Amino acid sequence: MPTLNASPRYGWPKGSDRRWRKLRARKLAQEPRCESCLAKGRITVATEVHHVLPISQGGGKYDWNNLESVCGECQDEAHGARSKIRIDARTGLPLPGQNHPWSDRE
Ligand SMILES: [Zn+2]
Repeated sequence: MPTLNASPRYGWPKGSDRRWRKLRARKLAQEPRCESCLAKGRITVATEVHHVLPISQGGGKYDWNNLESVCGECQDEAHGARSKIRIDARTGLPLPGQNHPWSDRE
């Protein structure tokens, strides 16, 4: 089993708090595979925790039953906007000055 990265690829997005981080870690510990890939018969290590019903649509942020472990690819699929972020080809990091959680990193 590969080592799980404790932090999301893009750093902690806005709105992440201690309660969410703990819940997220617990979810990844309990289900370290991407549930979306699993449903397609693939085994992929989950790196993100996704809300099945988005919070903006009334989904519970801390509702265990609303959480799904997903890999980066499935997360990107679910949040199409992220793929529009411009990436620096040299560093592989998002370019600065964009509306992106990475830019808010301390
Ligand atoms: Zn996946």
